[in-house]
Order: sequence, then C-alpha cells, then structure tokens
Amino acid sequence: MSTVPALQRSSTSVTAPIPVPAAAGEHTAYRPDRRRTPRRTPGWWRDAGIVAFWGINLVVTALWVKGGGLQDLTAGTGAALTSLGRITAMISSALLLVQVFLMARVPLVERAWGPDGLVRLHRYVGFTSFNLMLAHILLITLGYAAGSPNGLWGTIVELVVDYPGMLLAVAGTLALCMVVVTSVRKARARLRYESWHLIHLYGYLGAGLALPHQLWTGQEFLDSTAATWFWWTAYAVTAAAVLVYRLGVPAWRSLRSPIRVVDVRAEGPDATTVTVSGKEIGDWGTQAGQFFQWRFLDGPGWTRAHPYSISAAPTADTLRFTAAHLGDGSAALAHLRPGTRVLLEGPYGRLHPGVRTQPRVLLWGAGIGITPMRAILEELDAAPGDVTVIHRTSTPDGAVLVEELSSLAKSRDARYFLVSGHRRPGAATWLPASAGERTDVDALRELVPDIADHDVYLCGAPAWMDAARDAALAAGVPATRIHLERFAY
Ligand SMILES: Cc1cc2nc3c(=O)[nH]c(=O)nc-3n(C[C@H](O)[C@H](O)[C@H](O)COP(=O)(O)OP(=O)(O)OC[C@H]3O[C@@H](n4cnc5c(N)ncnc54)[C@H](O)[C@@H]3O)c2cc1C
Repeated sequence: MSTVPALQRSSTSVTAPIPVPAAAGEHTAYRPDRRRTPRRTPGWWRDAGIVAFWGINLVVTALWVKGGGLQDLTAGTGAALTSLGRITAMISSALLLVQVFLMARVPLVERAWGPDGLVRLHRYVGFTSFNLMLAHILLITLGYAAGSPNGLWGTIVELVVDYPGMLLAVAGTLALCMVVVTSVRKARARLRYESWHLIHLYGYLGAGLALPHQLWTGQEFLDSTAATWFWWTAYAVTAAAVLVYRLGVPAWRSLRSPIRVVDVRAEGPDATTVTVSGKEIGDWGTQAGQFFQWRFLDGPGWTRAHPYSISAAPTADTLRFTAAHLGDGSAALAHLRPGTRVLLEGPYGRLHPGVRTQPRVLLWGAGIGITPMRAILEELDAAPGDVTVIHRTSTPDGAVLVEELSSLAKSRDARYFLVSGHRRPGAATWLPASAGERTDVDALRELVPDIADHDVYLCGAPAWMDAARDAALAAGVPATRIHLERFAY
C-alpha cells in the first residue's frame, strides 16, 4: 500500500492510500520483454531545421537582390513600392510552404519539434506569412498605381482582371483570410473542432490558388533559371511531403496489413479501453506515451480522425488506448465491435521514454491525461525508487486505470500517489481544495522532495497543466526537463 506521509499527517489529506491488488491481473502484469531501447532524437535535428529555415529565407532574399530588388528601391516611389511588394510576396510564399511542410507529419520534423512545438511554430510562421501577404497586396497595388494613369481603383481592377492568375489569387487570399480569422484564439474557441478543422483545410486551397499568379506574372519566379528551380523545388518538396506522409504512408500501412479491434473494455461508465492488432504494428518504432490519429471503419463518422495516446507499452502486434467519453466520437468507442477495421496515422508526439535526461522521473497526469503515463511507466527502464507517479483526479471513483497503475507501480518499485478532490473554483492550482493552505510547490515537494533532479512528464487538462508546469518550474525543474502533451487542438 502506497502512503503519502506528510500529506496524510495533515488534517486535510489530499490523497487516498492506494490498495495494491495482491495478484496482478491480465492487463496489469509488467512484462520486461516489452521494454525496448528508447528512441532518442538527436538535438542537432532541431538545429538543422532552424538552419534550413533561415537558409530558405536567405535564398529568397538573394534571388530578390539578384533580380534588381535593391536597385529598384532607389528608382522612384513606384519602383520602390513594387520592389518591396515583391520581397514581401516571396518571403510570404516561402513561409506558406514552410507552414504546409510543418504540418505534413514528416517523421523527422515531428520527432525534432513534437506536436506542441510544431503547433506553436505553425501559428508563428502562419501569422507572419499572412501579414506579409497583406503587405504584398498593399505595396504592389500602390506601386503599380504610382505609375499608372488609371488611379488607385483603376489599377486594382486592372491587376485583378488583366493579369493572368490573379482571379485565382484573389480566391486563394480569401481562403487564407478565412483560415487566419478562425485561428485567432477567441474565434477558434467558439467553433466546434470539426468546423475549425474543415475551414483549416482551405489553407491548402489558398496555397494552391496562389501558385498560378506567381508562375504567370511573378517576376522572381521567372527571372532566372535559379529562381525557377528554387520555387519549383520548394513547391514539389512540400506537395510530396503532404502526399507521402499525410496520405501515402497511412494508406499503405493500413491496406498492406489490416488492423482490427480485438478488445473493447469499459473503464467505469465514462471511459473505454480499446486494443487493436495488426501484423506489422510492432515495426513502426512506436514508443509508450505517443499518440496516433485513429479512424474506425464502423459507420458514417469514420472520416473524422481522433487523436488518442497509447495507454500500454506497444507489443509486436498490438496497440491500446483509453479514452474518456467527452463527445459523440469518444462515447461511440464503447460500442465498437471486435473485428472492426482501423486506419491509423502515427506514431506522433514527444511524450515518451526517449526524451528522458535524468535517472529520476515524475509521471504526472490528471484525469484522462494519466493514460500515457501508464504506458510510460510500463516501458521506462528505471531503478527501484526512481519513478514517482502522481495521479490527479476529481473523485477517486472516477479515476481510470487505478488498479493497473498501482499494480504496475508495485512491480516496478515506483511510488504511486492518487491525489483526488475538486479544485477550488476559479483557482489556478494543480491541487484539490482539500490541500488547504499548501502552495502548489510545497505540495509537490512533499510528494517528491528531490523534484529538481527529475524529468517531469505532464499530461492533463490545459489549465491544470499550466499550474502543474509552473509548480515544477518553481520547484527547480528546468523547462527542458518538462515534457508534455496537450489533449487539445
Ligand atoms: C495529442 C492528443 C492526444 C489525445 N489523447 C487522448 C487520450 O489518450 N484519451 C482521451 O480520452 N482523449 C485524448 N485526446 C482528446 C481526444 O482526442 C478528444 O477528446 C476526442 O477527439 C473528442 O472527440 P469527440 O467526438 O468525442 O468529442 P467532441 O464533442 O467532438 O469534442 C469534445 C472535445 O474534444 C476536442 N476535440 C474533438 N475532436 C478533436 C480532435 N480531433 N483533436 C483534438 N481535440 C479534439 C474538442 O475541442 C472538444 O473540447 C487527445 C487529444 C490530443 C490532441
């Protein structure tokens, strides 16, 4: 039985003692043969990505200079505005391609940055590209108008109607505007995930529609053989990455060796554990804690993929996840039938044993966010006493996988704390209200006194994760040792 001495001595205990089953059940036994060498991602992959990013921008600027961009800046107002309009267009286009490439699920990029880092980059690069595109439209229009007898409005009409590919470019711009407007946090919060996702796909359309006007009228595209080669290569590489990794690889894997549901198990009334099996699943290099995009071919909703993290260490031919019933898609999992075909994209994510840097590890999950921790606990190669699990839950009855976790913790000589109770309403804390006057940091140090020497794996609801991360940072854990997965888009 695990105990929490300091917290239990207090009058407002925040933990319940964990009963450890005498005999481990079928799903709880730790099998050392499942433990594999963690796949580490070399740090230089990220550096190489940064160099490539700035390299692309440098080439684009060099092409602009080579095309007379600098000289034009001193050749009068019209020429200067047009020249600036060209460089903003070129950088905006390059960033748009980088943007699409980042989301193409290229394994090297995924492993180097992780979904969280990629989403942040995607937003930053996306908004920059969009702002530059607006600047391009404005500068080019003013530049052309300065040398035209038709005035501003006449020039706008002339640009849109007379120049080849421009009507398509206007449509592409509108598509991109829609994507950007719905990506602003406030607007995004009001949209259902499906609507947001569908609108977001218009980004591909926007990028595609912008291409013809670059080909037919873009001076930098046509100016020199080097420029033509550069732009064609950039477009081709980006398109190939999307086609190969978003469509080709998942389709090939699923068609070559069918994956099917083999077990569906209720985890209380509000969650389901699903196990799937396929002959070659073990060859995909999956690590405990990573996630896949899952599609179940059991009816009309199959086109919509749902991300779920694996909740057990992968075996040679099975993967398993545990999902809370939050909406239609997750609730339907309870009715899945064994034998149902499954399409999988993945593995993705950086919450896995390969990112660990220290011998000591804290696996810290809240609610359904505990599920990847269970998988990591199973696979982590650790000495007795090196691993601590903190399982935060609103009510002890609603907690998932408690028996499996306590049994695994026992067999792995890990410490397992279940911290249950509702939060004080409105409070930004990782603790339940019953923790009384303790600060977030004090409570963390009570459970893990040498927390500063740990790697911290974190997963849970966004607000809870923010509070937990802040507590870990304040307790002396460097940011680079906090590894997290957000169950949110
Ligand atoms: C990387 C990652 C790993 C995840 N792992 C797990 C897991 O192991 N177990 C688990 O229970 N949940 C997990 N989730 C959350 C899970 O994907 C959503 O709860 C689920 O897709 C909801 O679908 P729904 O149709 O039941 O609910 P809906 O009613 O459609 O939505 C309920 C909530 O889930 C969000 N959501 C819906 N679809 C998606 C989607 N495709 N991607 C992200 N968020 C979505 C919505 O914003 C909403 O807040 C994970 C999410 C991410 C991003």
